[in-house]
Amino acid sequence: MTRSVSIFGATGSIGANTLEIIRQDPEAYRVVALTGGRNIKCLASAATEFNAEIAVTAHDELLESLRDALEGTDVEVAAGEKALVDAAARPADWIMSAIVGFAGLPPGLRALEQGTTLALANKESLVAAGPLLMETARRSNARIIPVDSEHSAIFQALNGEDLQSVERVIITASGGAFRDWPLEALSKATPEQAASHPNWPMGERITIDSASMFNKAMELIEAKEFFGFSTDQIEVLMHRESLIHALVGFRDGGLMAHVGPADMRHAIGYALHHPGRSHLPVERLDLARIGQLNFQSPEPGRYPALVLVREVMAAGGHAGAAFNGSKEAALDGFLDGRIRFTDMARVVEREIENISMDGHGKAAMTLESVREADRVARVRAQESMAELNR
Ligand code: NAD
Ligand code: MG
Repeated sequence: MTRSVSIFGATGSIGANTLEIIRQDPEAYRVVALTGGRNIKCLASAATEFNAEIAVTAHDELLESLRDALEGTDVEVAAGEKALVDAAARPADWIMSAIVGFAGLPPGLRALEQGTTLALANKESLVAAGPLLMETARRSNARIIPVDSEHSAIFQALNGEDLQSVERVIITASGGAFRDWPLEALSKATPEQAASHPNWPMGERITIDSASMFNKAMELIEAKEFFGFSTDQIEVLMHRESLIHALVGFRDGGLMAHVGPADMRHAIGYALHHPGRSHLPVERLDLARIGQLNFQSPEPGRYPALVLVREVMAAGGHAGAAFNGSKEAALDGFLDGRIRFTDMARVVEREIENISMDGHGKAAMTLESVREADRVARVRAQESMAELNR
């Protein structure tokens, strides 16, 4: 039986890896929607290869180029934010949510409202709107399967276990591009240097977030929202080799570790084949050759994001949206050369001070209320960045 699948963010790193897995057995799938941003050539070529029902670019002004690129094929074309959400409402058995940033939230929510199984790579949607996303899935009985490698690892380690018997989870972190830099050099780091990951090939934004550990900070919120663990049950452990992705500790003292190569095709394939398993073209680890695995505690002075996120988790509600919005704006500022690498945490820290003052953690959560918290956080982040430059 063929399964129908859609891929949101098909032109990105996760999107390309997802298509690669589907390419192994094209007869088994029917591709419904593929979406992308500005890389029309890549989107059109994937839509043609997989004979997608529809290709959608996020940008209205690129509709004509997409139409031209797909001329002579049967692929429908559309553009814009609403078109993305409409594409998420098209019936499919499985949807990959791999847009980067807050923009992944509306189509992901729409897919869940429909009851569609959502493979969730877009961590920003859980960070900004975890309670809303989980509640939407519960109401329509839709399944969310985590794709972030750490959360896929926890999900796998929990197979057949009672959540009540979990004492703690340990999420591992490589430490990113600057793990061995002297602390005083960090303020001079360039976007290019930050975008070079020691272990994982990924999109530019998540790679820079790995260097600052904002990525790991977001993963703590993801673990809290998705699995329902409390803040003090979730720990971070530095692990240079990125071969153990997470560990789950049970009340009898046992630890279940998930071990595998640093290759997202494993977590994507697991989400695609869940609850079964299928052959995946990933490296088989030779542990004797690897010889040793290293662990250490992260230094808080090097990774302020790990400290800040604890306040966000304690506040709950819309604090996650404010955190994500200010982080995304600060990352844009760093990429544009407006602020330094180390200023990103300062911008987010100011937003967290604001959250505790205006207490908007408490309001009922809707897509509109989350959008508003995101918008306000971005405006305030611009002000903080302007001030930092004064
Ligand atoms: P990427 O930058 O390589 O790709 C992002 C995709 O989103 C592209 O298809 C791009 O066209 C699309 N996009 C960008 N802005 C958009 C917008 N405003 N509206 C609609 N589409 C837009 O990113 P990636 O590394 O593939 O990451 C995708 C998501 O998966 C992120 O949320 C990331 O945190 C998460 N994730 C990625 C990895 C990884 O290995 N790359 C691992 C874990 C989690
Ligand atoms: Mg991860």
